This record gives sequence, structure tokens and C-alpha cells, in this order.
Amino acid sequence: RTRIFSGVKPTGHLTLGNYLGALRRWAEVDQHRADALFCVVDLHALTVAHDPARVRRLTRQAATLLLAMGLDPERCTVFVQSHVDEHARLSYLMECTASDGEMRRMIQYKEKKAQGGAEVRLSLLTYPALMAADILAYGTDEVPVGEDQAQHVELTRDLAVRFNQRYGPVFVVPRATRPPVAARVKDLQEPTAKMGKSHARTAGIVYLLDEAETVRKKVARAVTDAHPEVVYDPAERPGVANLLEILAACTGGEPGELAGAYGSYGALKKDVAEAVVEMLRPVRERHAELAADPGYVDGVLRDGAERARAVARPRVDAAYRAVGLLPPA
Ligand code: ATP
Ligand code: MG
Repeated sequence: RTRIFSGVKPTGHLTLGNYLGALRRWAEVDQHRADALFCVVDLHALTVAHDPARVRRLTRQAATLLLAMGLDPERCTVFVQSHVDEHARLSYLMECTASDGEMRRMIQYKEKKAQGGAEVRLSLLTYPALMAADILAYGTDEVPVGEDQAQHVELTRDLAVRFNQRYGPVFVVPRATRPPVAARVKDLQEPTAKMGKSHARTAGIVYLLDEAETVRKKVARAVTDAHPEVVYDPAERPGVANLLEILAACTGGEPGELAGAYGSYGALKKDVAEAVVEMLRPVRERHAELAADPGYVDGVLRDGAERARAVARPRVDAAYRAVGLLPPA
């Protein structure tokens, strides 16, 4: 059976970008057709300045949201990265497989380093080694992610191939999968930039737990342009293209075709807002129910970690042996 792994960082409240780029497919498609593991990758949240209490809170919230959007613990494995030691264990071997130069070439490293100010943690640089470990520990075939993670998955493939060539066939070489539309949702206020949950300016970010009225306001204020017609042209008119892609992702149409149905930005924005509100409504409702029962969520995460460990341990042990580390007697 196809093995799928993916994760989300507890660096902020989850966004519409996270949902359309990755999470929705996990629930609607991936868990039904594969042996799938989904992870709140909390260790990755420590690569930038963080508040311990907030990370803890956001980790539980992200896990609760994954269940709220339909991940079924009977069908897939939902867990927290730091509960499974194999991630950190294998990360070190990935650091011993990767080169300094290829880590420094990563776009996310350069971008977050530029935002990071005085403190740039070493772990921000080595992040892709941990991410490769996350993926490779499970013998993963497919990694459903947004477009921004394609480079990291590509590096993961390189590391898997290199490791296998040096030490023997331990790892499956995975590939990234992305949604047909909205693989890179843009910030509504800055439509050339990716919508990101850790960004400081929140006016252009739709959070999954935003109230309906807040979603309507944010969409109504989305930056567009002065062109009189609604046309799908991502390069020249990114704001409108972003709205059309969001609408297409919510309703199932094609952004280019949808454009023809609108005579004004006002009408388009209204429909986008309602489509997003309706899509998120059941997620918010279910989240409220689950948040009232933290014992249930904890139980899911405990079982999930146990299952994940059982899958990861033999392969990580094999990797340790393959590189020449003496197994404990
Ligand atoms: P951060 O700003 O902390 O990096 P993020 O919003 O980018 O947060 P991640 O936890 O890094 O979220 O990514 C989780 C998943 O969501 C990944 O698969 C990523 O590709 C996807 N994703 C993130 N932002 C977007 C976006 N704007 N459009 C589509 N997919 C996205
Ligand atoms: Mg990100």
C-alpha cells in the first residue's frame, strides 16, 4: 500500500493556505487511499524565536483541527513529532548525509533568515535534515504539501538516493504531491507573497478558526487592481488570480472559467467569502466540540505516537546499522 506522510508546524494558527495547499487533501483523499501518517511537527517550531507555552497550546490546537477537518484515527495515524524519538535520531544521520552548501541554498532558510533579525538559530539551517528524517523514517512514497515545500522534498529525495548509494538500500525515495489548484495561496493584502501562519501582519491571512464576519471582512479588503474586468492572469494580476484560485478550490471550478462569470470585483469577493465561510463552518463547529474534550485528543495522539514509533523504529535502526554504528548488545 502507498505510504503517505505529511506535517504541519505549530508556529501559528492554521490558515486557509495550509488547508487548501495540504490539509484538506489529507482528510478528503489521502487517508482513504493510502497508509497515511499526519504529524504536528513541533520540533520544527523551535527553529525560530518561540514562546514555550504558545507552542504547546498551538500543538494541541493543530492536532484538534486535524481531527476536526476529518482525519479519522481509525483510518490514519495522527501524532506529535516530539513524541516519537526516531525523528531526532534520524535527523542526525541526515545531517551527516547532507552538505552545508545544499542546506544554505534552501529558499525557506534564506527567507526566514532575512526575517529572523539578530537571532538565527542553527536549527533553521538544518531544518531540511529533520524534515527529510520525518519523511524517510516512514518509508514514505508520497508527501502531500503546498508548492513552497517542493524544494525541501526534492532535497529529501537527494538525501535518500545518496544514503542508499553509500550504505545500501534503506530508504524509499519519496515524491511530493500538490493540489491541482491553490498550491500556493497568497496573502490577501500582499498577493505576491505566500499566506503564512507565522507572518506578523494578519489582515491578509484567513485563519481556519476565524469568525465568519472576520473572513468576510478580510476577503472584502483583499488587494486587487484597477482593471475594470475580472480576468485570470496570475503574473500580471496576482490579487484577482488568488481570489479566483481560492474560489476554484472551494467550489471545484477552473479559475480561468470562473473569471468569466463575474462583472465586478465586488461580486467575486462576495462569492469567495461565502465559499470560504461555508467550507470552514463544519471544521470550526467540529473543532469547538473536540476542544471541549482534550482527553479524547490526548488519547488519539498517544495511540498515534505508538503506531508511528512501531513503523519508524525498524527503518531508523537499519539506518544506524548501515552507517556503521555498533548496535547495542
Ligand atoms: P510558517 O509561516 O511557520 O512556515 P506555514 O503557513 O508556511 O507556516 P507550514 O507548517 O510551514 O505552514 O506548512 C504546512 C503545510 O501547508 C505545508 O504542506 C505547506 O506547503 C502548506 N502551505 C503553507 N502555506 C501555504 C500556502 N500559502 N498555500 C498553499 N500551501 C501552503
Ligand atoms: Mg511554512
